[in-house]
Amino acid sequence: MSETIFPVPAEVAERAHVDNAKYLEMYKQSVENPDGFWGEHGKRIDWIKPFSKVKNTSYDYHNVSIKWFEDGTLNVSANCVDRHLATRGDQPAIIWEGDDPSESKVITYKELHREVNIFANVLKAKGVKKGDRVTIYLPMIPEAAYAMLACARIGAVHSIVFGGFSPDSLAQRIEGCTSKCVITADEGLRGGRKVPLKANVDKAADKAPVDAVIVVKRTGGDIKMTEGRDVWYHEEAAKVSDQCAPEEMSAEDPLFILYTSGSTGQPKGVLHTSGGYLVYASMTHQYVFDYHDGDIYWCTADVGWVTGHSYIVYGPLANGATTLMFEGVPTYPDASRFWQVIDKHNVNIFYTAPTAIRALMGAGNELVEKTSRKSLRLLGSVGEPINPEAWTWYYNVVGEKRCPIVDTWWQTETGGILITPLPGATDLKPGSATRPFFGVQPAIVDAEGNFLEGATEGNLVITDSWPGQMRTVYGDHDRFVQTYFATYKGLYFTGDGCRRDEDGYYWITGRVDDVINVSGHRMGTAEVESALVSHPKVSEAAVVGYPHDIKGQGIYAYVTLMEGEEPTDALKKELVNHVRSEIGPIASPDLIQFSPGLPKTRSGKIMRRILRKIAEDSFDNLGDTSTLADPAVVDDLIDNRQNRH
Ligand code: ATP
Ligand code: MG
Repeated sequence: MSETIFPVPAEVAERAHVDNAKYLEMYKQSVENPDGFWGEHGKRIDWIKPFSKVKNTSYDYHNVSIKWFEDGTLNVSANCVDRHLATRGDQPAIIWEGDDPSESKVITYKELHREVNIFANVLKAKGVKKGDRVTIYLPMIPEAAYAMLACARIGAVHSIVFGGFSPDSLAQRIEGCTSKCVITADEGLRGGRKVPLKANVDKAADKAPVDAVIVVKRTGGDIKMTEGRDVWYHEEAAKVSDQCAPEEMSAEDPLFILYTSGSTGQPKGVLHTSGGYLVYASMTHQYVFDYHDGDIYWCTADVGWVTGHSYIVYGPLANGATTLMFEGVPTYPDASRFWQVIDKHNVNIFYTAPTAIRALMGAGNELVEKTSRKSLRLLGSVGEPINPEAWTWYYNVVGEKRCPIVDTWWQTETGGILITPLPGATDLKPGSATRPFFGVQPAIVDAEGNFLEGATEGNLVITDSWPGQMRTVYGDHDRFVQTYFATYKGLYFTGDGCRRDEDGYYWITGRVDDVINVSGHRMGTAEVESALVSHPKVSEAAVVGYPHDIKGQGIYAYVTLMEGEEPTDALKKELVNHVRSEIGPIASPDLIQFSPGLPKTRSGKIMRRILRKIAEDSFDNLGDTSTLADPAVVDDLIDNRQNRH
């Protein structure tokens, strides 16, 4: 791994909320006196009834229980909307950029307030009450944010299902939380293509019946409306008042359920509650992105993922920020779109995923360089380990060596960012998520759960709770305990492998399942992938282990080449030699398969579980593939597999 250090630029430190000395002091206080620290920072949001208790959490395997600010009451939508009206009512809350570059609009806090109130009254009129679950299956349109905040306003619990999911996956998730109301649109629009959202809801509702379907008109496409169940949102909105008093909620009342992306197995219904989640989402948003009033902030995630919940909607809006919401995809109309949107709206802070960075890197520098990007000040990455090659490209080409990169490690389960640089405080090392956020106590343990000290490598655990932590798996507390607290009793197990270096920096090496053992040498697949991607002809790589008679495990690499490169045997040899010289002979791939596409979840993560099966030449039972973005990729991989018995 690369050990080049990028020090904090002086002008960044000067402007930032915290420099390194302040980080160290605040971090120390946050772990030595969590009640004092969070008691203070808990006041960053508005409480109806202030809390008197701060932390009440137990990681005891027999009694896992997580409560923060438990006797306080608040309303999340009032925090994200109403409280900004007096000071910034006319400031943009949301800048919406449509799929088609000619479409965009600005929603001020005043307008947001009106829209959320109306949406809340529509929900009430359809019989939705406090505590009810509402499934949201919408494209990236402002109504998605209105719907989330409307649920929060009346105390309903939203469960967003990403618009790319199939009717079956949607039905599963409607049933999973016994939701009686679905909010959708006639059709979505992504990359110029229409997505039949309402038709999918119809199919899902055949399996998982609901009482009400509220349909937002997006494209005007031809859809079927079922009498007595389906209503047009705009028709209902015209009938209700634009005033809806926010419900007083307890800090520990549920805010939302979100199913994890399912890269490792059956998705889990992660439950987040109101007070602690909002404190943590807003605080991380302010400090990690060093957000200041007036900044234009853009997170490219979909609201169907936790990143969209915490860092498009709840965190930024709680902070009175301007958050950009993008309906489209990075490659439409062409692969210059992100950079054009940055120029169009003068984006200062840009947060995206390694999968997008690698794809855009593969498209060539001209597409970036023809844009200005002068407004950019900070870049962010989330979702997977970012290989140093992609990091360096992002830093040099996109950020023109001017913008620090925050590589943020976290999970659906954690509610917000746990390990990350702070731009004014942390010297960067490409590929490292660096240091813990306030209140977060990471540790590395071996397979038996022994704590490993100093520079070391093993399994990443967190030893104590932070306010944004999930509270349970919806309806299945035992699954929550078994999944996260049973492997190492008394510790939250992340499922991720991790290395800590001499400077105390954390490097996520991938899922623990992705660590391979070649002739007794343990290595993270991310390391071999980084080496492959550092070859100029390689755009993306995924590495898995497969049973090998002599070595125990062999290295099987799936490689996607840059546009226009020929997949030849000579190139395979060249790649093997390249990895040998980058890491050493022990890491040489045994088998390389050129693959035009990799199986990815709809959030863009490589589904290694499937790649492992194909590499093992046992692909009859690939398990749950319902979360795959493009199932056809799998057939091509099977046809061209390199390990045939
Ligand atoms: P499932 O839990 O259903 O298998 P998932 O883990 O992909 O799905 P998410 O909660 O979306 O669902 O992803 C969290 C995981 O993503 C982390 O556990 C980690 O493996 C990876 N990850 C996220 N951010 C980073 C990062 N900055 N560096 C390295 N890995 C990251
Ligand atoms: Mg996970």
